[in-house]
Amino acid sequence: MSGEIVDAAPEQVFEGHAVGAGGKACCGSCRRTVREGDRIIVYAYRMSDMRRWSVAQLSCRSCSDLDVLTPTLGATEVVMNARLAVTADAATQESRLTIRAPQVTTFSAPEEGREA
Ligand SMILES: [Zn+2]
Repeated sequence: MSGEIVDAAPEQVFEGHAVGAGGKACCGSCRRTVREGDRIIVYAYRMSDMRRWSVAQLSCRSCSDLDVLTPTLGATEVVMNARLAVTADAATQESRLTIRAPQVTTFSAPEEGREA
């Protein structure tokens, strides 16, 4: 294990992270459309040997009771509350739906079976 890897907090990684397409995204649980201003739940994970976080699923707040993570050996998993905002790119004149103000509510370490 290397002590040189700097762990970036998921809140930092996912602030401004682009999701969905065409200014809207889809709840992975109920398929409802979520868009700018909606509060969402983001499920993300990172394998122990990777430095990149990946979004596993995005859900609307109505599906917040489905926040059951499947513990994956060797993966760090987080559940975050966040909201959606549209960020305009002046260069391409495209607007992208992005994650804003994420807050980690559940954290699952790769080895510790810690419960939130
Ligand atoms: Zn939903």
